[in-house]
Amino acid sequence: MDSIRNQFPILATTVNKNPLIYLDNAASTQKPLVVVDSISEYYRNYNSNIHRGAHYLANIATEKYENVRTQLASFIGGQSHEIIFTSGTTQSVNLLMQSWGRKFLTSADEIVLSEMEHHANLVPWIALQDEIGFKINYIPMMTSGQLDISSLDQIITLKTKLVSIAYISNALGTIHPVAQIIAQSKLCSALVHLDCAQAIQHISIDVRALGIDFLSFSSHKIYGPMGVGVFWGKEDLLKEMNPYLYGGEMIKEVFLDKVTFNELPYKFEAGTPNVADVLGLGAAVKYIEDIGLQNIKQIEDELHSYLMLEIEKVDKIIIYTPKENSTAVVSFNIEGAHPYDIGQLLDAKGIAIRTGHHCCQPLMRKLGLEGTCRASLSFYNTKEEIDSFIAALKSIVKLV
Ligand code: PLP
Repeated sequence: MDSIRNQFPILATTVNKNPLIYLDNAASTQKPLVVVDSISEYYRNYNSNIHRGAHYLANIATEKYENVRTQLASFIGGQSHEIIFTSGTTQSVNLLMQSWGRKFLTSADEIVLSEMEHHANLVPWIALQDEIGFKINYIPMMTSGQLDISSLDQIITLKTKLVSIAYISNALGTIHPVAQIIAQSKLCSALVHLDCAQAIQHISIDVRALGIDFLSFSSHKIYGPMGVGVFWGKEDLLKEMNPYLYGGEMIKEVFLDKVTFNELPYKFEAGTPNVADVLGLGAAVKYIEDIGLQNIKQIEDELHSYLMLEIEKVDKIIIYTPKENSTAVVSFNIEGAHPYDIGQLLDAKGIAIRTGHHCCQPLMRKLGLEGTCRASLSFYNTKEEIDSFIAALKSIVKLV
């Protein structure tokens, strides 16, 4: 554990004269030194714009950037040219909405989302629905914090063109029954997009084994830098989709009256990409693979069970995260206290959690809440940190 924590110097800092206890990993993970170093190394040694370069630096930067594409393809079980670099999950969903949705959805169609989605996988679709007039059906959420899939065959039907859902809920940590949802989608020949923003750092993902068509995730949630992410799509679907952004790099030929587009994946990567952070993402994924996602999951599951067990013992606690099929997150409130105040009181003790609606207003409305407190774990957290967090909560409860 010491060797893991030493990779994350920020974990040794103090906040309000207390050692930092970072329990806001679902919002963004901390970065290991190998990631910080890879970014610094790029700017120190081979900073250059990539592709079309006729010089040493451009060639080396291009090679490293394209190597990360290949590395990520093998990480998720796709092909290199199916990996599109975006700025993160939000941009990836927008790409799908603009490039596929705008081209293929009509007012006669239906798509399926769930009531538990992050706004990133809700707002783009509602905005497009306003323009095109297709129907959005929602897989309902139960007050237990799980999706109700008992009527899946009435929600995902032959009219459904796309099912777009998160693998794991960011607000509650619920692991959704994606296998059943994908199976029903395939029965109806509907395409499936999986928002893996909260899954890619915890669970080994294989797009072919899952049988999905599109996938999105953000680098900063998997120990990589901010400002970069991935959109993956099946080759034949990507080929049929329109470009998302237009400009340099994404073209084959430009005339004053017509344009032909570049091949995959460049058709979707207009302009100068975020080279340094793509390299940082590559370093993060290598770091994760060296430790092993199985090992990471085991540590996180143990920490999560311990946290769930201990937090239950706190007076006046209300827990929203289901005991079964959940990971890394505990969403809770304390009777009679506003989540923001709990967050502030914990911060005074150096403990970082997140409070609010977690970009899931429909989910909160379903629970009749304005917001929750969310503590979220990473494999670099310890039982001692959980003990300190629980002790801090108990002392706060006495104040409210
Ligand atoms: N989807 C889920 C499930 C998330 O948790 C998040 C971020 O918290 C997003 C989408 C949006 O990710 P980003 O802000 O990195 O684009």
